[in-house]
Amino acid sequence: MVSLRAINKTFSSGTVALKDMSLDVHPGEFISLLGPSGCGKSTALRLIAGLGEPTSGTIDWPGTAQDRPGQIDHEIGFVFQEPTLMPWATVFNNVWLPLRLKGQAKARVRDEVMNALEMVGLENFADAYPRELSGGMKMRVSIARALVTRPKLLLMDEPFAALDEITRFKLNNDLLHLWESFGWTVIFVTHSVFESVYLSNRIVVMAARPGRVVADIAIDAPYPRE
Ligand code: ADP
Ligand code: ADP
Repeated sequence: MVSLRAINKTFSSGTVALKDMSLDVHPGEFISLLGPSGCGKSTALRLIAGLGEPTSGTIDWPGTAQDRPGQIDHEIGFVFQEPTLMPWATVFNNVWLPLRLKGQAKARVRDEVMNALEMVGLENFADAYPRELSGGMKMRVSIARALVTRPKLLLMDEPFAALDEITRFKLNNDLLHLWESFGWTVIFVTHSVFESVYLSNRIVVMAARPGRVVADIAIDAPYPRE
């Protein structure tokens, strides 16, 4: 689905964020990128999303390589650590945003927006404003916003890090159910060993200074799932 080949990323400050990183992402995988703060997880995710260029190495998208970067944003949903919602807009309008940026009128995409809200269990909160929602609910809205364009690849950058443990556990379960139902490809950045083992079927472990891959492990759902 996407291939990173010998990626190096050195920032203008001189920081070597990634050293010789290679990764083949296959359709349907749920990959956790696991490692300590500063090992380059976010940098890797941003490069995959086309937010910035590697210093050397290539990122290949079979079938869309010619059209980079214009095509890529249609294929990718990105969930950031902070929900980054527009506070002045309703939940509906926040989720509509990616479609609106593609020129799609609200009336035409009402069903798509409502479907995305249903996926995360917030269909009754379409008219609410972000300030009325709990942290977990705001995170659900940003997941709905990432899913509304039906991306092939969902990139999540420590999405639950700011939430309390129980909310986080609930969202982990919901994310897993969504993934099992819809079969997306997910790359999930975390420094939680628990999350990576619980959620993913492949764990890519990174080490810092300089950021590099030190293990790439296939795992088969060690926790029973209902
Ligand atoms: P992680 O997500 O694993 O915590 P990051 O990818 O955010 O790691 O950062 C990797 C390294 O690159 C860190 O040393 C960080 O300080 C540095 N870094 C990240 N973004 C920038 C930037 N825009 N400019 C300079 N250095 C950066
Ligand atoms: P989650 O962690 O699943 O996002 P919370 O534990 O924050 O949910 O909230 C539990 C339930 O309480 C929510 O699903 C929602 O129905 C309701 N709720 C929470 N905050 C509000 C609010 N500000 N207004 C109305 N209902 C709320």
